[in-house]
Amino acid sequence: MSDLIIRNACVVTMNAERHVHPNGAIAIEGNRIAAVGPEPDVLEAHRATETIDAEGMLVTPGLIDAHMHPAQYLSNGVGDDVDLSTWLYERVYPYECTLTPEEAHTGALGAYAEALKYGTTCFNDPGGNNADSSAQAAIDIGIRGIIGRSTQDVDDPEFHAPSALIEDTDTCIRNCERHVSRWHGQAGGRLRAGYCLRYIFNVSDELCRSLKILADRDGVAVHAHAAETPDENPSAERKFGKRSLARYRDLGLFDPNLYLIHMGHVTEEEIAWLKSDDVKVAHCPSASMFLGLGNFSTRMFPKMIEAGVTISLGTDSASAGGHLDMVRVMALAAFGHRDIAADPALVGAHKALEMATIDGARACLWDEAIGSLEPGKLADLAIFDTNSIEHHPGRDPVSNLVYSFTGRNAHTVIIDGKVVMQGRALLTIDEDELRHSLAKANEAWRERAGVSTPRRWPEI
Ligand SMILES: [Zn+2]
Repeated sequence: MSDLIIRNACVVTMNAERHVHPNGAIAIEGNRIAAVGPEPDVLEAHRATETIDAEGMLVTPGLIDAHMHPAQYLSNGVGDDVDLSTWLYERVYPYECTLTPEEAHTGALGAYAEALKYGTTCFNDPGGNNADSSAQAAIDIGIRGIIGRSTQDVDDPEFHAPSALIEDTDTCIRNCERHVSRWHGQAGGRLRAGYCLRYIFNVSDELCRSLKILADRDGVAVHAHAAETPDENPSAERKFGKRSLARYRDLGLFDPNLYLIHMGHVTEEEIAWLKSDDVKVAHCPSASMFLGLGNFSTRMFPKMIEAGVTISLGTDSASAGGHLDMVRVMALAAFGHRDIAADPALVGAHKALEMATIDGARACLWDEAIGSLEPGKLADLAIFDTNSIEHHPGRDPVSNLVYSFTGRNAHTVIIDGKVVMQGRALLTIDEDELRHSLAKANEAWRERAGVSTPRRWPEI
């Protein structure tokens, strides 16, 4: 006897053959998928105590936001329309220092709630300094995720992070180790943890080498921002005598558990290194467009895809892209590279959905359990409502999802076999109460920090 059957749906499995079942069903037992397939086959072999009749709806694996800073949720708006250095060093870092653990918990709940409402079931967080708050909030709301803890042990005068965010190397290592041992595998395995290097200019060689050794020991990843802006590599060459990726490679970090974020500014030689060492990459299209990072303009992502590098998609954060909607992010990834190269064959909807599901799972070292709808995998899935004007029944369902829907088409979300959102209502949290808490926390940190979000036009 299964616990839940979803029937009468169009099921996009993302299995190895990319099977789509236009009249499909899924049986769930406990937190795992027991069966997926054409509805008559599934219903013949399975009975359940509960059934969701998803008439005409589209079911996909839950979307994976493979690079997202939940701790930045309350900073949305403080860095509108400025370059990355100003955004990070003058706006977001001071914000991160100001936040109390309680505000960080509330902000993370807001990030997860928004993500869930767009069909995201799993996130990968590179960590702030309130990582415990982000982890606890993930447990509280029922989302799956990987939580990192930020590290910075170098106060570079040119890339100057607030002293509250800089720790000596030993403290960074100790805190990270404690973080991973505390959170990895929590919530019945729904939470994982990892090691993080915040930004190339604020991490020492010793820190890089030490975190790599610990990540190997603990079987987790090292998550780092790299090749993010046009200025990064020239600055790295001045400071380290080499480009960012050469530095990480020479320090011995290049391995399947290295996870590099943004990565628009790479060379063809570096792409060959990424492929041969199976280094994973996250593409954050909305952040690149919002902050003008130029990750599309280099035309390197289509080359990385062609070379077979594993690439996920991420929103980065609410304040780095304006939203946490992975459906919109898929559309940007699908479209953006075509325009730059004037080539309509690049990326497209199907590759974008792969990046947001099975490729994302692989990039997060979790593809043995999530990223596709297959028997034995964890029951994480998103059901998108097709009873709307923007649904075109005669069209390829994946093209319809990526090109014509937004995350607001997400209707029901299931994580670890549990219904977390149904009919767009979150079941694990009081949404009105959360909005009230978010508004209060937003006001409190801004008042304490003396920060107000500038208005472009006069308010009278
Ligand atoms: Zn980031």
